[in-house]
Order: sequence, then C-alpha cells, then structure tokens
Amino acid sequence: MATPIGNLGDMSQRARDVLAAAAVVACEDTRVTGSLLSKFGFKSALAPYHEHNAEEMRPRLLARMQAGEAVALVSDAGTPAISDPGYKLVRACIEAGIAVTGVPGANAAILALVISGLPTDRFLFEGFLSAKSGARKTALQKIAAVPASLIFYETGPRLADSLADMAAVLGNREAAVARELTKLFEEVRRGTLSELAAAYEASGAPKGEIVVIVAPPAEEEAASAESIEEMLSKALATMSVRDAADAVAKASGRPKREVYTLALSLSEKA
Ligand code: SAM
Repeated sequence: MATPIGNLGDMSQRARDVLAAAAVVACEDTRVTGSLLSKFGFKSALAPYHEHNAEEMRPRLLARMQAGEAVALVSDAGTPAISDPGYKLVRACIEAGIAVTGVPGANAAILALVISGLPTDRFLFEGFLSAKSGARKTALQKIAAVPASLIFYETGPRLADSLADMAAVLGNREAAVARELTKLFEEVRRGTLSELAAAYEASGAPKGEIVVIVAPPAEEEAASAESIEEMLSKALATMSVRDAADAVAKASGRPKREVYTLALSLSEKA
C-alpha cells in the first residue's frame, strides 16, 4: 500500500483503515514507518522488510499470512515495489495462493510525469541511473530509441552530470526536473536537457528528492537510432566491436564514442 511522498494529507482514508487493521506492517525502516504511524495515532506491529533481510523475512511473513493474518507492505515513502522492495514478496504471495490487493496513492514518477507537460501516452520508467558516467551512458544508449517519455529518479549531487549525459546520448530533448513534490518547496523546472544541465551546473547540487522526465525522441531520431542498431548488429556478425563501431560511425556520421558504447552493449547482449 502507498504512503505519502512528503505531504501527510495524501494518506487516504482507506490507507489509514488498512494500516490500523493489519496484524503486521512490513516496512523498509521501522523508524520511518513508526513515525508515520504515530502521526496518525496508530500502534500497529512493525516488521522490517528490506533488501538485506528480505530472503529471511519473506518465508516468515508468508507463514503469518497463511495462518490468516493480514500483512500490509509499505516502503519509506510512496508506492512499494517501485524502486523499493516488494516485488518478490508480491510474487511469493501469488505463488502461495495468498490474496494480494493494493491501496493506491502517491508515486513520485507518475506525479512528475503528469505535471511535466511532456507526453503521457507512453512512458518508460528507468528508475535510478548509475552513479558512474560510463555505465549511465550505456544505459541511456539502450533506451535512446524508445518512442516514449522517459522517467528517471535522480539525486541532487548527480543531477547536472546526469542531465549532461542525457543531452549527449539522447540529444537535446525537452525535459523537466521535478523536485520536492507535494512538499513546501515543490518545484518543476522545464527546458531542454542542455539548458537544465547548464542551470544546475551553475547553481550547484539542488537539495531534496528529484525526478527527471525526458520527452520522447523526434520520429526521425528514433528511426535513425534504430537503424544504427541494425547496422551494428550486421557489422558485429563479422567484425570486432571496435571495427564495427568505426565502420558504422563512418557510415552514419554519428559520434564514434556513442556508436562504440552501443556496439559494446549489443555485443554484451549477444
Ligand atoms: N517508491 C517511491 C515512489 O513511489 O515514488 C520511490 C522510492 S525511491 C527509493 C526514492 C526516489 O523517488 C527519490 O530519490 C526521488 O528520486 C523520488 N522521489 C520520492 N519522493 C519524491 C518527491 N517528493 N519529489 C520528487 N522525487 C521524489
């Protein structure tokens, strides 16, 4: 079940009822969820469920559910299982024939997309990119041709570099940086990726929690990124990664570095 991403007013009545009625609330951090519950006057039992104890806790939670107890799963904020623990527990419940239902509520990715002003008809949620520029660019290269708005979670200290990498790999698309959503200092900055990268480079790392939304590629960009992939796949059948990248960069006029990164990721997939 979802909990607020900053504004307590986003806790629905149904979320409160479910929390109050649960035999146990499985949560990422008992201090964070304990403090949330105490704000509503609840004293529900808490069980820690996070990436470091999930393997050990999952069978215990399943046993309690099989004995007829209701377990509510929450994360520190927002919707569990979205860049947060939860997916494997949901799957294990389904496999064990335990009924799973959800209490919808806040989610930073969807809220940022909706208020970004960028197309909402198709989107791809990428979550957090790597902290390292090389791995970040490889990940961006893999999704460069996807004809959809892109959603990333990001941190203040990495924001300017990450926006610059997006501009280099995805092209200078329209984008929005949504910060501190639902909180006092909520802010959405809109512009091209290069404009936003320059603005955050100049102003320094912003404080707070951040979502970046990037517009889909222009149709011709998507087509050219796709055909470069095709050209590379053919070249990789007979050439080394470096030779294939050189040949395709020459033939397409695209930067060598960008084509090499894509060739490398294609060869790893093969
Ligand atoms: N499960 C959560 C959800 O439903 O949004 C996301 C958890 S993820 C570990 C945390 C990241 O979500 C933050 O680093 C930030 O990128 C984004 N986020 C969470 N709350 C936010 C907020 N109020 N404003 C902007 N971004 C937020």
